[in-house]
Parts: sequence; C-alpha cells; structure tokens
Amino acid sequence: GDGLSIRDVGMVYRRDDQVTTALVGCSLEIPVGSWASLIGASGCGKSTLLRILADIVAPTTGAARVGGLSPSEARAMRSFALVSQQSTMLPWRTILANVELGLEVAGVDKAERRRRAAEAIELVGLKGFEQAFPAELSGGMRQRAAIARALTLKPRFLLMDEPFGALDEITREKLNFELLRILKETAATLLLVTHSIAEAIILSDVVAVMSPRPGRISHRVEIGFGHD
Ligand code: ADP
Ligand code: ADP
Repeated sequence: GDGLSIRDVGMVYRRDDQVTTALVGCSLEIPVGSWASLIGASGCGKSTLLRILADIVAPTTGAARVGGLSPSEARAMRSFALVSQQSTMLPWRTILANVELGLEVAGVDKAERRRRAAEAIELVGLKGFEQAFPAELSGGMRQRAAIARALTLKPRFLLMDEPFGALDEITREKLNFELLRILKETAATLLLVTHSIAEAIILSDVVAVMSPRPGRISHRVEIGFGHD
C-alpha cells in the first residue's frame, strides 16, 4: 500500500569485529492515516526499524517503503519527518529561527517560512516564546519546538523515536495530550517508538510489539478507540 511498509527486513551491524543482528524477518504494514506505536524491550531493534524508514541506515536484507517509495526517494520528496530525543536546537538561534530551519534547508522563501513556523509554534503551545533561546526553555518546551520544526514541513509521515524519553512521567503525560491535539490538526500518519505501553495505548490505533533481539514484529494489536 501507500503507507509505511517493512517487508522481511534483516539488519546486521558490523563494528570492528563485533557483529550485532538487530532485526530478522521483520515485517510491518502501517496504513495511511494510522497512528501506530512500536513497543518492545530495550535493544530489540525499534530505533533501527525507524532509522531504516527514515533513510538513516539501509537494511541488510528486505525492503522498506514510505508512501510507496524507497526511504531515499521519500526523503528527497520530504514526505517524512523524524523527531527523536536527539533532535537538538541550535543554541545560538531563537526558537523561531530553529523551527524555520527545515524550511530554510528546503529553500522556502522568508515570508512563507515565517508564516509556517509561527503557525507550528502556536500549534505546539509555544506562542510568545518565538524570540527565546533554547537554553531559556524547559526540556519539555524544547521537545515541543522540535515537533514544531518537524510539522512545518507538513510531512505525510511522522516518525517519532521516544520523543519524550528524557522527560519525567508527569511531563510526558502532559505532552502526550498536547501531542494528541497537535496531530489531530495535521493529517500525518504516525509511527511512534516508545517503551511505555500506556503511551502506546493512549496515542495509537495500532500497537505493534517487537520480540527481544533480534527483533521482529510478534504482535499487531488494533486498539480501535477511533481517534477521528
Ligand atoms: P531499541 O531501539 O529497541 O532499543 P536499537 O535499534 O537501538 O534498539 O538497537 C538494536 C541493537 O542494535 C542493539 O543491540 C544495539 O546495541 C545495536 N545497534 C544499534 N545501533 C547500532 C550501531 N550503529 N552500531 C552497532 N550496533 C548498533
Ligand atoms: P518540563 O518538561 O521541563 O517540565 P514543560 O513543558 O512541562 O517542561 O514546562 C515547564 C514550565 O514551562 C512550566 O512551569 C510551564 O509553566 C512553563 N510553560 C510551558 N509551556 C508554556 C506556555 N505555552 N506558556 C507559558 N509557560 C509555559
């Protein structure tokens, strides 16, 4: 289909003389419009799966498709955005300038950049903080700015790797509902990697469970709360 697709993917990392088999026979289909979560034990290969879709690493065997395209084609078309704990803000740029960064790289003109960045900043609840610098914001606010930056590109697919992993439980909970609200206003198909079953169930209509390393999808559960 035209969604996110992982077909019989294997991934072997080789570093010096160390060989790590991260994924074996891993398959997953996420239809367009779905909100899916991927859960599983630490080290089972969840980030690897996401990084394959995001064209950061290539699978050793098998194939990944994003909207019917290879990950590198999808990247060229800017059809996905990735948000992770490592999504960092440039400390010498204001929040507005940081959120504009993706649009700048995409060659969007200044007036249009300003408009779309301001819109995304408002969407994540950071209106009034446009001229602040990253260090002046809390961790949670910086993560929301990273989400805003991803949303400015209006990606068809949003790939999120533990976007709130560094935050405490209460802040996470607050941000989840914030995220829910944000995503309701965008039409993105979402794949969220999380270690929190609660987060997965609250936020998704499909939960995929990965077996311990080498990872493959062992269960796929439709939650069916109906987020529309
Ligand atoms: P998860 O996201 O489920 O915690 P990862 O995909 O990060 O799992 O990692 C799966 C396995 O692959 C782990 O054993 C990890 O140490 C290994 N791994 C991940 N990235 C690399 C890398 N760049 N080089 C070598 N090994 C890696
Ligand atoms: P953290 O993860 O560091 O707790 P939060 O996003 O929960 O980050 O915000 C921490 C602090 O920042 C809170 O005390 C809150 O009052 C303030 N804050 C967050 N968002 C806004 C906002 N949109 N307007 C004003 N203050 C905010």
